[in-house]
Formats: sequence, structure tokens, C-alpha cells
Amino acid sequence: MDEIPPLSQAPARKALGQHFLFDPDILHRTATAAGSPEGRTVIEIGPGPGGLTRALLAAGTEKLIVVEADPRFAAALRDWPEMTSGRLVVIEGDARKVDLAEELAQVGAALPAMIVANLPYNVGTPLLVDWLKANDWRGEMALMFQKEVAQRICAAPGSTHYGRLAVLSQAVCACHIAFTLPPGAFRPPPKVDSAVAVLRPLPAEDCFEDLTSLEAVTAAAFGQRRKMLRASLKSLAKTRGLSAEAWLEGASIDPTARAETIDQAGFRRLALHWANSGG
Ligand code: SAM
Repeated sequence: MDEIPPLSQAPARKALGQHFLFDPDILHRTATAAGSPEGRTVIEIGPGPGGLTRALLAAGTEKLIVVEADPRFAAALRDWPEMTSGRLVVIEGDARKVDLAEELAQVGAALPAMIVANLPYNVGTPLLVDWLKANDWRGEMALMFQKEVAQRICAAPGSTHYGRLAVLSQAVCACHIAFTLPPGAFRPPPKVDSAVAVLRPLPAEDCFEDLTSLEAVTAAAFGQRRKMLRASLKSLAKTRGLSAEAWLEGASIDPTARAETIDQAGFRRLALHWANSGG
């Protein structure tokens, strides 16, 4: 790993959520957490000094597209020999503004692409929600988040972590936590534990396609999670000329139930009923 510049030359930028991994075992476990990247197209957001990038290449990634906001790291990565051979594609910029489907098409990458990243904490969740909606090109994902976010992705109904992120993630993926890491595994150390969430796409017939409706319903339901659903969904129901009670009963859900008790199937019924009510 001698391509990785020493931290003294590349001090971490807090605003960009820079907490780097250097342990080869942890990097290999992260690179392979969602399965072997051998022969696959992989997207990595935030390669930083390149430890995970190197591990992904060592594990046989065929085409690796990285998106890095920090020009210091993007410039260093462009000097890697894999860049010249075309195996590594470096995009400098904000991952939230990059059209990954377009970038994949431009380099003629084999699909679906895996996404493997030690994500910057401030942009991890919105990026994940975008990727959940990208059913046409997105494959397995292994994503390092703050542990609490990983728990929210993988949570089951009734748990304190269960909410919008679990319902959206599990509408299109099977999710589990591969492993957790203490702050000391990173340089500089973050304040909290981290964890790698693995998300594997469900078979097409088990996916719920209308994530936009599911987002609207879960935002309303969990926005006031202590309230009964007939109260928390009242305003959203009105936008479609529905009464919350009739909507909930039509979806076979007790109007006095609270959001955290409703399972994936229940939220799918609510979203379908809402979407089919026009608007
Ligand atoms: N992958 C490296 C590792 O594991 O050591 C670095 C991970 S560090 C947690 C997050 C990386 O994401 C940093 O390199 C940071 O500069 C980059 N980053 C932060 N915000 C970004 C954004 N909006 N788009 C692309 N990269 C971003």
C-alpha cells in the first residue's frame, strides 16, 4: 500500500467527513463484505488516500469508478497505473451531483455495479436513498456508516432503530450488518462506532418499485412516530382526498397503531393505496 500518502502530507478535512482506514485486514473485509468484487464493476465514493481503493483492486475489481470531492486525493489517484490502463476511473466532485448511471454508460461498464464505500457521514444517507431508487444499474452495496445509521437500515419493526430508512432499504434490498468498528480503527478517530451495512438487491418480483410513494408515507408516519397513524397520516391523506381512517382500514391496518409496529408489507399496502388514489 505504498501509494497511500502519509497523513502528515494530507491532513484530514473535517468538513468532508474524513476518517481514514489503513488496516489491510479491515480494508479487505470491507471490500468483500457484499461478496467478491472479482470481475465486477464497483463504484467507490470518497476513496480519500486510497486504502479501500487498493483493496478493491487487489480483490479483482474489473472496473473501479471512484468519486472524490477532495482535489488532493483525486490528483494523487490519477497517478495510479490502473488509471492509465482504464481499470480505474477517477471523478473529482461532489458525489451528490454526479450522475452515476451516465458515468457507467460512458465507460461501458458491466452492470449491475457494486457500491463499496467508507462513506462521509454527512452525505451517506441521501446518497443511499438515491441508490435504493436506482434499480436499473445498482447491485450489492457494502457501506460503512456511523453504527447507528447502519442499525437504522437493518432494523426490524418494533426496534428503536426502525423507521423510514429501514422501510425504504428493505423495500428493495435484504440488509444486514457485516461488522462494526470502534473509533480507534480510523485516523483521525470519529466520535462514535462505525459499521458496514450490506444491502443485497431483492429478486425483482420481491422489490417494491414505487419508492417515491413509500418515502412520502414513511416520512409522514415516522415524522410523528409517537402518534397513532390515523393522526400522523391525516395531512398526507388529505392531499389525495382520503380520510386517514378509511385509507388505513383499506390497507388492513389498525388506525390506532403506531408507525414502528407496521411491517414492510403493511407500508407497501399503504403506499400502493395512496399512489392509486390519484393526486
Ligand atoms: N475511503 C477512504 C478510507 O476508507 O480511508 C476515505 C473515507 S472518508 C470517511 C470519506 C471520503 O469521502 C473522504 O475522502 C472525503 O474527502 C470524501 N467525500 C466527502 N464528501 C464527499 C462528497 N460529497 N462527494 C465525494 N466524496 C466526498
